[in-house]
Amino acid sequence: MVLDKFHDECGVVAVFGHPEAAKLAYLGLYALQHRGQESAGICTSDGSLIYCRKAMGHVADVFTSSALADLPGSQAIGHTRYSTAGDTLILNAQPFSVACNKGRLAVAHNGNITNAAELRRELERGGSIFQANSDTEVILHLVARSSERTLAGALRDALLQLEGAFSLVLLSEDRLIVARDPHGFRPLAFGEMEISGGRKCYVAASETCAFDLIGATYLHDVDPGEMVEVGPEGMNRVRYAPEQQRAQCVFEHVYFSRPDSIVFGRAVNESRENLGRLLAIEHPADADIVVPVPDSGVAAAIGYSAESGIPFRHGLIRNHYVGRTFIEPSQAIRDFGVKLKLNPVRQLLKDKRVILVDDSIVRGTTSRKIVRMVRQAGAREVHVRISCPPTVSPCFYGVDTPTRGELIAANHNVEEIRRFVEADSLGYLSAASLRKAVGDDERHEYCYACYTGDYPTDLVNIEELMSARQKRR
Ligand code: AMP
Repeated sequence: MVLDKFHDECGVVAVFGHPEAAKLAYLGLYALQHRGQESAGICTSDGSLIYCRKAMGHVADVFTSSALADLPGSQAIGHTRYSTAGDTLILNAQPFSVACNKGRLAVAHNGNITNAAELRRELERGGSIFQANSDTEVILHLVARSSERTLAGALRDALLQLEGAFSLVLLSEDRLIVARDPHGFRPLAFGEMEISGGRKCYVAASETCAFDLIGATYLHDVDPGEMVEVGPEGMNRVRYAPEQQRAQCVFEHVYFSRPDSIVFGRAVNESRENLGRLLAIEHPADADIVVPVPDSGVAAAIGYSAESGIPFRHGLIRNHYVGRTFIEPSQAIRDFGVKLKLNPVRQLLKDKRVILVDDSIVRGTTSRKIVRMVRQAGAREVHVRISCPPTVSPCFYGVDTPTRGELIAANHNVEEIRRFVEADSLGYLSAASLRKAVGDDERHEYCYACYTGDYPTDLVNIEELMSARQKRR
């Protein structure tokens, strides 16, 4: 059976030792809402039982105060998941919880396990029954089957069989374990906070913006190949897998993470401003204003403006309240989807030569609509600048990218893309500058597969992965 679900673009949180664990997990997820808007879930434990609530929708809609009141205990894990058209099953929402020979467990993760389909086939041959189409469930089966007696030992057994990307949070009746795959594709930060009586509570989250909201202190990342276990005896860091070549997702710094987060030990905003500065050096343009595509292009546009001396202007305004449901007039309005989200400030754009900065062009269709919008608002010239190299390969490690066939840069050169998006000029940041912007020019600790096609792990079942990707579109 082909797994037709990828756990793209998710956010995870974990809390251990706080009397209001569910509320902290809720706030953490609230801060991570940008990492996934399809479904949200929290499981808590009170020392003997695990309680769960998950549903489709945004964090604030899923967790009313009465829903939170039904989640007692001082341990919690939470998950927020990205939406993909046609794949909105509550069955696939996380965390997953089960009762098995290792006790009651709940687990959630961010990333794609690239050998999940093979593992699942093997498990099914051995009699395992699956409820959903998700690779998280595979992890639970592997934990249950392990002959190790401790939970940490069983999880280690399970994790050593996985390939690909995972940042994982696991809860039992009385302990929490968080872990990151040996390449460290997806982020996972660890922190602590003081609670009454000078006691400490431990927290983990995909991004540190979750810590800021709950008042926790960021201590360190969970290292690639590391497991952090917290139980009644305290906190313990364990390396469960040997050190591998790091392959931290550079796209977290380019687009995905919030600019106020520290990701892979580095401030995202700093990376983004660097991207913009280097873009201005590599692709200058004779223009009057620098305009970001909000929100994804804002920090890079600030860097571009600072480096070039060309004034930064908010020439496009984003409606932040665009939901999943809206009523489109039956008399079709041209480019309705983009107009719903963005509107030009005509007074700023009229008769101007505009440098339009965005983080990436994927299919090119949105970018073309935005260029048209800026031109229709009266801009004389539109120079598009992209703060990363052309996206030429799909991601199999947890970022939602379409198949190679749909990626415009996989099939067209820069001049052809320029013509497609109808820009007067188009400049992409070079791979060397991208490395420099994220401080990776000497260390080589990031994954650039979406820009190079060089995947840092063997993708043995690449055809299956490709066809799963195709199927979900
Ligand atoms: P398009 O011109 O249709 O390729 O769309 C480009 C827009 O998609 C840019 O504004 C990007 O910020 C945004 N984008 C890039 N990657 C992703 C992603 N993985 N998920 C959601 N949006 C993305």
